[in-house]
Amino acid sequence: MFNLNDFPLPFRETDLVPYMSVETVRLHHDKHLGGYIANLNKLIADTKYADMDLREIIVNSAHDASAQKIFNNAAQVFNHEFFFNCLGRGNNTVPDLITDAFGGAAEFKEKFKSVAADVFGSGWVWLTYDNKKFEILATQNADTPIAHRKKPVLTLDLWEHAYYLDFQNRRADFVDVFLNGLIDWKFVIDNMNM
Ligand code: MN
Repeated sequence: MFNLNDFPLPFRETDLVPYMSVETVRLHHDKHLGGYIANLNKLIADTKYADMDLREIIVNSAHDASAQKIFNNAAQVFNHEFFFNCLGRGNNTVPDLITDAFGGAAEFKEKFKSVAADVFGSGWVWLTYDNKKFEILATQNADTPIAHRKKPVLTLDLWEHAYYLDFQNRRADFVDVFLNGLIDWKFVIDNMNM
């Protein structure tokens, strides 16, 4: 059984204002993440997935056609916890390893924005880091790099619920604000070093 209390926000609801409103944070964490957790608990009850941890559920259900709903909800729980951990204020310096790999902070942001712009419908943009190589990639719906044995270090939620209250249809502005003022780069660096 999973519990929303085990996935606390790493910041106060007011910390991201004005870039992300309290209402968006609250809805996103309590209702959307909370909903995925509730669904997951129902779906795994009395199945072989009931005793697995979250990563095990994701990796195993990714190759189990009968477990698509379990995969979707488990992956969304992982993706959201990861996303909330990526958010913060007050540290806007892109790490050297990333600027070196992309030829500059601006170049990294342009590439990230371009991948985000190509996401049609609901999905995620990720920075992954494997074998000392970065990759910016998008996943559709609930799909997640850990199902493909890739290591995420940063993600942006591009489902409409992530930005619609604050940005309405201006998704590109949300991506801009995220890249320029909402990333906790310390979390990204910690992931790179793991
Ligand atoms: Mn979301």
